[in-house]
Amino acid sequence: MLDTPVEKLKYVGPRFLPKLKKLGIKNIRDLLYHFPIRYEDYTETVKISDLEVNRKISLVAKVSDIENKRAWKKRMVITNALLEDETGSIKATWFNQPYLVNTLKAGGIFSFSGKVSLGKQGAYLSHPSYERIYSQKLETNLKHTQGLIPIYPETEGITSKYLRFLIKPLLKYASKVPDYLPKEIKQRQNLIDTQIAISQIHFPQSQETAEKAKERLAFDELFLLQLKSLIAREKIRTQKAIPIKFNEGLIKNFVGSLPFKLTNAQRLSLWEIIKDIEKPYPMNRLLNGDVGSGKTVVASGAALEAATAGYQAAFMAPTEVLAFQHFKTISKSLSQFDVSIGLLTSSNSKVSSEGLEYELPKKKLVEKINNGEIKIVIGTHALIQKEVSFPNLALVIVDEQHRFGVEQRATLLRNSSYVPHLLSMTATPIPRTLALTIYGDLDISLLNEMPKGRQKIITKLVTQNERQKTYDFIKEQIKDGRQAFVICPRIDPQSQINADNQRRSARINLRQSALTALEVKAVKSEYEKLSKEIFPDLKVAMLHGKLKPKEKTQIMDDFKSRKYDILVATSVIEVGVDVPNATIMMIEGAEKFGLAQLHQFRGRVGRGDHQSYCLLFIESPLVATTRRLDAIVEHNDGFKLAEMDLKIRGPGEFIGSQQSGMPDLAMASLSDVSLIKKARAEAELLLNKDPLLSQNKVLAKKLGEFQQTVHFE
Ligand code: ADP
Ligand code: MG
Repeated sequence: MLDTPVEKLKYVGPRFLPKLKKLGIKNIRDLLYHFPIRYEDYTETVKISDLEVNRKISLVAKVSDIENKRAWKKRMVITNALLEDETGSIKATWFNQPYLVNTLKAGGIFSFSGKVSLGKQGAYLSHPSYERIYSQKLETNLKHTQGLIPIYPETEGITSKYLRFLIKPLLKYASKVPDYLPKEIKQRQNLIDTQIAISQIHFPQSQETAEKAKERLAFDELFLLQLKSLIAREKIRTQKAIPIKFNEGLIKNFVGSLPFKLTNAQRLSLWEIIKDIEKPYPMNRLLNGDVGSGKTVVASGAALEAATAGYQAAFMAPTEVLAFQHFKTISKSLSQFDVSIGLLTSSNSKVSSEGLEYELPKKKLVEKINNGEIKIVIGTHALIQKEVSFPNLALVIVDEQHRFGVEQRATLLRNSSYVPHLLSMTATPIPRTLALTIYGDLDISLLNEMPKGRQKIITKLVTQNERQKTYDFIKEQIKDGRQAFVICPRIDPQSQINADNQRRSARINLRQSALTALEVKAVKSEYEKLSKEIFPDLKVAMLHGKLKPKEKTQIMDDFKSRKYDILVATSVIEVGVDVPNATIMMIEGAEKFGLAQLHQFRGRVGRGDHQSYCLLFIESPLVATTRRLDAIVEHNDGFKLAEMDLKIRGPGEFIGSQQSGMPDLAMASLSDVSLIKKARAEAELLLNKDPLLSQNKVLAKKLGEFQQTVHFE
């Protein structure tokens, strides 16, 4: 029954089918599981004499008169009706729905809902919803005008009204939906039955029952998510990894050799990693830390252990610039140790060993990797595509990426029967609730502490008339020996197309290459302006996507060694770049960037002992963007900002739900830490008792389906 396809339903014609599919609705079950996003509250049924202006109400009345009028001049039809009950009458008005005179025939009794407005001739109902009343038992039959009216996720051509119309008569099948949650869990967590929850979530009796229904169904989704994570976690434990024995002397040496003292959070994280890689099954750990919290050094410690034990470690960065930078820093921090470190990107092949660095033809380098001589290999994703084959890869470190797919890991392995330990480091701090749900299969080390001596970055909005003053300030900073980044505005393909006044068909996305070209143009003109007009006596360089990788790394390296004062760039610079002497981050068109991105930019400064500044130049102070900009000015803490970003953008956009297939209610419940924790605890308890779910067949089947649709990689 539940599998009956929607096309079998009376009111689903061929026109609606593809549209319903778009909402993920193929059968009756899907309809029952298409939950409202909110309700319109029409619980208040009133008599006409009690109507008050501006109240949302619902009333039952007879249509005593109805007629169409053509509004002169405009091509518009106005339908006026007079509604009456035993206490009085009120006017109702609709625009451009002339057919209403046939639907709402005079003499008929209907239920109406809407807001009472005040017009020239007194109170009236503007565009009220209506539905015919067929029987005396009103409450049970009305779906659009009385009680809590569900508003659904819609798509073009599929309105909430249509969905209510389809769903309401199907609620009788809710009793057929299996309840896959074990009884004990329902009792312990005080959850209502699935069947009741489903009918109540669509047409709840009260706000309270709606909440109860939502809680139950959200719990289901979160519970499935947790089962999925926990099972994935268990599965990893059945795989084999190379255990790397804790080398206490080595780690002590390493920590002692650093030019700074590790923060407590760094120590703890390093310790957690060291403990993990001692195990004979693969580590699956996320190093979650704010920008500048010092993730690289923690990773280096782990790589050093693997290398010293005679194994290999691969360190992957998202860009050439970052790979190069990591090669430099890691070579330096490990210069006192006997390990050879390689850099392999499309434009670079280098080796460094005990502080000595030299270039090597790529072929030679690959040879040395393939025979196990090079222990730590740093590179971009090119690493996994090259003819590289690590003979004894024990550890993979992935920088500035949340996840590194199982398949990608597998390609690194080639013929080995071992799975390498994985440490991934995040580009953006992840709010706790997200970490608990979608990253539930990973262990997490938290760097919630900044290195000592960091000063709070001062963040300021700069409007047009403060420009000159701000330029002067930047000049002073540079005279004092500091350096500055300048980020050019993001190119918005939509506005660009509108500006170019192209044909409508060009509304499809601008091709990436065309976008890059526009960005290059912006960078070049900003570069011209700054180097010729504003800072003619300073050394300015530029960085953009059209440069060859080799040129990019060269420019970055030169900037780092202070050959330039100012670096003008596109968002290339966004992640990871570390130039502690830079204290100014100036962002043009700041309103065009998202919160996470702005925070990443800001994280490029404030990495040394000097006071740093993040200057947000805005072209037009738009209302819509101020919340974001206010947030960034006010807060320095990346975790806090991530939480706010999650709230402002909603989890869907935040994690890209479209791709992940994350269910709606789980998504909506991401702020509910206590519910998430309960779901996790119950999932753990259940798997302890019944690891293969062999005593919970219905649940096992449901989980199987769930795992096919939800994926976070
Ligand atoms: P991120 O976490 O953003 O990747 P990095 O690893 O690039 O941060 O580190 C940022 C800067 O802080 C680097 O210059 C690094 O040398 C420095 N650093 C790291 N740990 C400490 C520490 N405990 N004390 C002082 N400086 C540190
Ligand atoms: Mg980093």
